[in-house]
Amino acid sequence: MDRLKGKVALISGGARGQGATEARLFVREGAKVVVGDVLDEQARQLAREISGQGDARAVAVHLDVTRAADWRAAVDTCIREFGGLDILVNNAGIFNMSGLEDTSEELWDSIVNINQKGVWLGMKTAVPAMRQRGSGSIVNISSVAGLTGSTGSTAYHGTKGAVRLLSKAAAVQYAAENIRVNSVHPGLIATQMIDIIPPEQRQAFHAVVPMRREGRPEEVANVVLFLASDDSSYVTGAEFVVDGGLNAV
Ligand code: NAD
Repeated sequence: MDRLKGKVALISGGARGQGATEARLFVREGAKVVVGDVLDEQARQLAREISGQGDARAVAVHLDVTRAADWRAAVDTCIREFGGLDILVNNAGIFNMSGLEDTSEELWDSIVNINQKGVWLGMKTAVPAMRQRGSGSIVNISSVAGLTGSTGSTAYHGTKGAVRLLSKAAAVQYAAENIRVNSVHPGLIATQMIDIIPPEQRQAFHAVVPMRREGRPEEVANVVLFLASDDSSYVTGAEFVVDGGLNAV
């Protein structure tokens, strides 16, 4: 408990799935959390639920990660409501299984804008606020799809691979300012995102994973918590795989 005491976190795509699990865990660990998402009602509900009685511990903001103005408003909310910003989890993302030739230009642009440009915009907007605090931790959610290829999901692979190196580039750039940047690479995690995978394909996947199952959002959130907290004070530019051994095969 209290591993994030006194810290303020902004979580993009925080209304549901892994982001919501991280928001709950962060508040339990003493942080104040700003939940940013395009799912406004779900984000508000979650913030109400985890805020508890008395002092607000979480608030929701409308955040479309492709929009610079939304990012500025989200960071301003962190400062206005909770006095600053210490932690950014760039968690928002969309998934698609289309292969290279089946990917339309429109689909490509939307995946790149959300999964890749959104991460850059988030870091760009958060860093000045972290500099004011004298330190910060940025956790960028990539994927095992950012480490290896597969027979489909071309744009998703491209963007998640970009997040991996964006994280290392930012880590090197800001290390001297004590702003750490790391990437997390989940395998298949049981959230609504993977409902688009046909059941038989999901089943077949279990056989390939050394641990023979999908991950739970909590299992990713615990790694994100470590990176967000001062427990990882000498960790930057690193990649953390949370995949039941898949990437080791
Ligand atoms: P999810 O679909 O439940 O959550 C994604 C969240 O991002 C949603 O709340 C959604 O509303 C939000 N979002 C989408 N577009 C947005 C935008 N333009 N602006 C702001 N928010 C937006 O899925 P999840 O599994 O919780 O995904 C979280 C992250 O983990 C994503 O980056 C995803 O790519 C990554 N990931 C997921 C898996 C998996 O198997 N579930 C595996 C590897 C990586």
